[in-house]
Amino acid sequence: MHNDLKLFNELAEFLLSEEVSQPVAIPIDTKVLYETIDIELKDEPTIDETFKSTLKDIIKSTPKTASKAFFNQLFGGRMSRATLGDLLAVMLNNSMYTYKVAGVQVGIEKVILQHICKRIGYGDDSDGTIAPGGSMCNYMAMLMARDAFDNTIRNEGVSNKLIAYTSETSHYSVTKNASFIGIGRHQVRSVKTNAKGEMLVEDLKLQIEQDIEKGFQPFFVNATAGTTVLGAFDNVEQISKVCQAYNLWLHLDGAYCGSVIFSKKYKHLVNGIELTDSFSLNAHKMLGTPLGCSIIVTRDKANLYQSFSNEADYLYQTNDDAFNLGKTSLQCGRRNDALKLWTLWKSVGTNGLEQIVNHQFYLADVARDYIQSNSDYTLYSFDDSISVCFNYKGISAKTLCTNLYEHSKLMVGYGTYRNETFVRLVTINTQVEKNDIISFFKTLEAFVG
Ligand SMILES: *Cc1c(COP(=O)(O)O)cnc(C)c1O
Repeated sequence: MHNDLKLFNELAEFLLSEEVSQPVAIPIDTKVLYETIDIELKDEPTIDETFKSTLKDIIKSTPKTASKAFFNQLFGGRMSRATLGDLLAVMLNNSMYTYKVAGVQVGIEKVILQHICKRIGYGDDSDGTIAPGGSMCNYMAMLMARDAFDNTIRNEGVSNKLIAYTSETSHYSVTKNASFIGIGRHQVRSVKTNAKGEMLVEDLKLQIEQDIEKGFQPFFVNATAGTTVLGAFDNVEQISKVCQAYNLWLHLDGAYCGSVIFSKKYKHLVNGIELTDSFSLNAHKMLGTPLGCSIIVTRDKANLYQSFSNEADYLYQTNDDAFNLGKTSLQCGRRNDALKLWTLWKSVGTNGLEQIVNHQFYLADVARDYIQSNSDYTLYSFDDSISVCFNYKGISAKTLCTNLYEHSKLMVGYGTYRNETFVRLVTINTQVEKNDIISFFKTLEAFVG
């Protein structure tokens, strides 16, 4: 291990220098991938020097998500204290299902969950878990809602038409999850949105009433804090009133921007969050931990146990359920995704998390100001969003983004809303500064010429 740790350090240093010297790795065409890099597996072992140089080739060619030219997806950058925690978690290699095997790491996960529950105004009966991704958090929420609606389904299967509601701009996982939980994709209603991409509550109400009239059974509403393309926030307060009136489970998908709960300045974007039945956030998005760190909490832990606990005497041999986290998790063996968030949180404090969140909104303001003061640009997005959507000189966003990538200039993606396709600059990397945002635009402009 000592030798490999030395090698790891050398490779990590190499990566850090590559991120600066070649922030967008030269892309390899898939047609020549296997000829360009020696990734084929063979019968014979590889000698150490070759092994090392192959690893360097791989590092060199791998897209650099922590570089200052990466604005492509809803994550990026590297919070070093969080990376440290994740490296430790890999070395410790616990499985989070029992206290016997994970010990203090269980406490670390519980502390995180308790803080988040308290912060959003859930009471003493609340609890949560860390799931393998935001999509799976949404899945767990939908499953809890299904069982809360009718607790015979988990044994007998679905026999009624259960209907779920989510806005047309919400994440695709909601529809996919409907097939997983057995209600079927066609039972997900797409609720209309306004120009900003926020759910239209009147349309939600209308569709619920139409479904009830047809004899269907509404059970679940998914609201979004930070929609995937525009970064819009649904109005939780208004939606929760509808959910209360019709007795529906309300989940708030905060995978993208749920971390606004840490900011005094921006937490108003999720006003009413205490009225939800469940809430999820991806710490690997706004908080910048390594992938993945997806947290779901629910107002009443009885729902978690109802949907996810199973007796297994080969597994649960010591300690009480509250410390045997396998009783509330989706999977059995579970990686420690808590430690990386804890090392970050412990070292910067809750105030530090707030600064991380605020900085991203600041960078988005910088980008919007730049766009608005330059007539070659058209802006499509709104205040209080860290997805800054725009077009430049009427050039096709798809062509522009693809060319920037193929010429190793910038990694940035595009999105579509209401028949407009635009570049989506995501200001989620907290290590980025104002001048990096400006140089993003300058690079783009110089490239177009
Ligand atoms: C990213 C995202 C998800 C999915 O999270 P994964 O961790 O990628 O599974 C769900 N909902 C929203 C709004 C997202 O932005």
